[in-house]
Amino acid sequence: TPLSHIRNFSIVAHIDHGKSTLADRLIQSTNTVADRDMKAQLLDTMDIERERGITIKANTVRIDFRAADGEDYVLNLIDTPGHVDFAYEVSRSMRAVEGSLLVVDSTQGVEAQTLANVYQAIDADHELIPVLNKIDLPASDCDRVAEQIEDVIGIDASGAIAVSAKTGVGITETLEAIVQHLPAPTGDIDAPLKAMLVDSWYDSYLGVVVLVRIMDGVLKKGDKIRMMQTGASYGVDRIGVFRPQMQNIDALGPGEIGFITASIKQVRDTKVGDTITHEKKGAEEPLPGFAPSQPVVFCGLFPVDSAEFEDMRDAIEKLALNDASFSYEMETSAALGFGFRCGFLGLLHLEVIRDRIEREYDIELITTAPSVIYHVYMRDGTKIDLHNPADMPDMTLVDHLEEPRIKATILVPDEYLGDVLKLCQDRRGIQMDLTYAGSRAMAVYDLPLNEVVFDFYDRLKSVTKGYASFDYNLEGYRQDNLVKMSILVNDEPVDALSMMVHRDRAEMRGRAMCEKLKELIPRHMFKIPIQAAIGGKVIARETLSAMRKDVTAKCYGGDATRKRKLLDKQKAGKKKMRQFGKVDIPQEAFISALKMD
Ligand code: GDP
Ligand code: MG
Repeated sequence: TPLSHIRNFSIVAHIDHGKSTLADRLIQSTNTVADRDMKAQLLDTMDIERERGITIKANTVRIDFRAADGEDYVLNLIDTPGHVDFAYEVSRSMRAVEGSLLVVDSTQGVEAQTLANVYQAIDADHELIPVLNKIDLPASDCDRVAEQIEDVIGIDASGAIAVSAKTGVGITETLEAIVQHLPAPTGDIDAPLKAMLVDSWYDSYLGVVVLVRIMDGVLKKGDKIRMMQTGASYGVDRIGVFRPQMQNIDALGPGEIGFITASIKQVRDTKVGDTITHEKKGAEEPLPGFAPSQPVVFCGLFPVDSAEFEDMRDAIEKLALNDASFSYEMETSAALGFGFRCGFLGLLHLEVIRDRIEREYDIELITTAPSVIYHVYMRDGTKIDLHNPADMPDMTLVDHLEEPRIKATILVPDEYLGDVLKLCQDRRGIQMDLTYAGSRAMAVYDLPLNEVVFDFYDRLKSVTKGYASFDYNLEGYRQDNLVKMSILVNDEPVDALSMMVHRDRAEMRGRAMCEKLKELIPRHMFKIPIQAAIGGKVIARETLSAMRKDVTAKCYGGDATRKRKLLDKQKAGKKKMRQFGKVDIPQEAFISALKMD
C-alpha cells in the first residue's frame, strides 16, 4: 500500500467513554470481522479485561476501508487502556501512530484521563479528532461537551463527530474523518530498516510476538534482524497483521504496523521502544526510544499453603514473561515463609496480577501491605532504596527519609469539591491549583504517593458518588518525618503488616489498624493483645477477648460425629488462614486492615 493510503490511529478516552465499543463498530462496519464472529469489546481478549470491562493491553487491528473518494485505504487502529495505571501503554501506542480519535462521552464530558490523553497526544505531536459518543442516550449534550472540550482542553471541537458506538450512528463519518484529517505516515522505502518495537507478549503457540511499526525500509520473512539497544540478533520466522486474528503476510513496509516472531525466548529480551534493524546494512542511528515504565508499588505475595511455593514461582515467571513492567524477587518473611516481593505500576496492576495467579494457576495468596519505594539516608552516608518496610534499618542509624510525591489532577462537579479538598488534605496533600470550567472544578495537588496507592481512588469515588476523575504523575522525592510502624499480635511482630507512616498520622493509623484487626481476627481460646508500635513504643492497643467456651470440650464423650464435623469445619477455615505464633490470621486481614474508612 502506498503511504498516502495508510492511516494509523489510536483511540483514546477516559475509562468507560466507549473506546472499545467504538473499535468494535469500526471493525464491524468495514466487514473486517464477519457479523457472526462479532462480540462486544472484541479486542479485550483477556478474561480479566472482559470481566472488569476494561482494556489492559493495547490491541491492534488492520482495517480495509473504501472511502467516499473511491480509493481503498488501510487503517491501522490501536485500542488503548484508559486506566491511569496503564498510561504507559497509551504513550507508546501514540508513538506508533500519527493521530488519535479522542472519544468523549457526551453524557459525561471531559474527565481526568481525557486530559491526560490529550497532553500525551500533544507531546507525541499528534492530530486529534474529537468524537462525541453515546448520542443515543437522552442525557447526551453534544453542544455543552464540545464547549467544554474547547474551554478545558483548548482544542477546536467544531469538527467533533457525533457518534453512537452502540447503534452505529456516525461511524462512516468517523472513518471518513480519519482518512481526511489524519496525516498519512512518512517513511523511506529505500532507507535502511528502522522498525519501532511497540509491544511484545508471550503467546503459548508462537512464543514471543513482537508488535512493530515500520518507519523506514522493508521487513521481510527470513530477514536477519538486530535489536539496536540490546544488540541481540534473530531470524524473522513470521510476519503478519491483526485482522484482528493473526494473518501471515510476506513483508511490512514503511508506515505499516504488524507483528513478527523470531524464536525469541522471553519478553524481557525485547525492549519496548527499541529499534529493530537489519543485521547487514542496518541503520546507524536508532529511533528516539521511550522511557520504560517503572514499578512504583511493591507488595509481598505469599502462597496461603506454603506447599504451593514452587507452583507460585512457576506462575509468576510465566506472567512476567508477558509483562515487562511487573518485577519480582524472592522474599522470606518470618511469619509468611517463602514468597515474592513484587513491583507494579499501580494498584490496579497489582490486583490484575494477583487475580491472574489465583485464577489461572489456582493458588491462594496472601498480599502484604502495598508500599512505595522510600529513600533511606543512613548516618554513615549510604543510601538505601527501601522496597519493603520489614527491611527498614534501625532508626538510630538513619539520618533521614524521603518519600515519592505525585502531582494529582482531579476533576469534580462543584458540589463535591469540598469533600475532595478535605480528602486531599487528610492525605497530606498540598494544593497547587484550583480552577473552574462550567460547573466542574479542576484541583491539582501535590500528594505523597504512599497516601494514594492504597485506597485513595476508592475513597475519591465514594465521596463524590463516582463523579470525580483522577490522574497522576510521579514528581520526585521529598524528605518528610516518616517512621516504621510495626504491628504485634499476641506480642509477636507480624512483619507482613508493618508499614511506613508519617509521624503525625501514626497514632491515628495505628489505632485504625488495631481496631480493624480486632474485627478480622477470629477469637481464640485465649486473650490476644493487638498493638501498634514505633521502635519499642506502643502507640495503640486493642484486646481481642477469649472465646467464652471451649466448643470442642463440650463434645468429649458426647456425639463423635458432631465433634468430627466441628474439626473439619475448623480445618476448612484454616485453609485461608496463616498461623502467627499461636494466632490464626485470616488472609483478608492483610489487605482490609489497611483500608481506612
Ligand atoms: P472503554 O472503557 O472506553 O473501552 O469503554 P467501553 O467501550 O468498554 O464502553 C463502556 C460502556 O459504555 C459499555 O457498557 C458500553 O456498552 C457503553 N457504551 C459504549 N458506547 C456507547 C454508546 O454509544 N451508547 C450507549 N448507550 N452506550 C455505550
Ligand atoms: Mg475498553
